[in-house]
Amino acid sequence: MSATPARPLPRIHQPAPEHPNQDATRRAEIAPGQRPFAVVFGCSDSRLAAEIIFDRGLGDLFVVRTAGHVMGAEVLGSIEYGADVLDCPLVLVLGHDSCGVVGAACAALEDGIAPAGYVRDVVERVTPSVLAARAAGLFEPDEILAEHIRHTVDLLLDRSRVLAERVEAGRAAVVGLCYRLADGSAQVVAARGLDLTANSAT
Ligand SMILES: [Zn+2]
Repeated sequence: MSATPARPLPRIHQPAPEHPNQDATRRAEIAPGQRPFAVVFGCSDSRLAAEIIFDRGLGDLFVVRTAGHVMGAEVLGSIEYGADVLDCPLVLVLGHDSCGVVGAACAALEDGIAPAGYVRDVVERVTPSVLAARAAGLFEPDEILAEHIRHTVDLLLDRSRVLAERVEAGRAAVVGLCYRLADGSAQVVAARGLDLTANSAT
């Protein structure tokens, strides 16, 4: 589990939206079979709709989302389906600022009160990330979020042998992105199987 602060990495800015692959022609074209180019594993937050924020359309992204991008067996299986069965070369872990689940995990550690129902299960899966951030001296919300995204990337590769082997073989990369709700920019906070430090993405 990486607890070190991120190296200076590229910030990704989006150009004007083009809304590609969203018409009836595309719909008919891909009906026989899908071949998405990326798996997006992101937070369920309503402001983080993957195809909209990345300006993609039908058949482009294989999307798996849970609140706080926490994972269990079905989530891991879904990501493996996209990465292995559908042969997607890229897995994006997509977190965002002002994430309610990350905030709830911080609050639960502060006041010792766990959320009710199954929300507790979600929040408790974020707790290790918050504790790791604190242990590394990271207390700012952005720092805690970045740590949770890095932790998610590492946990994904630790839990999924299929994905780890694909990264090891150079057939896939896993990248952690921190998305800013207000301006739509994203910053890379983790990259496995891909060296993004040399290139400035735009
Ligand atoms: Zn969130």
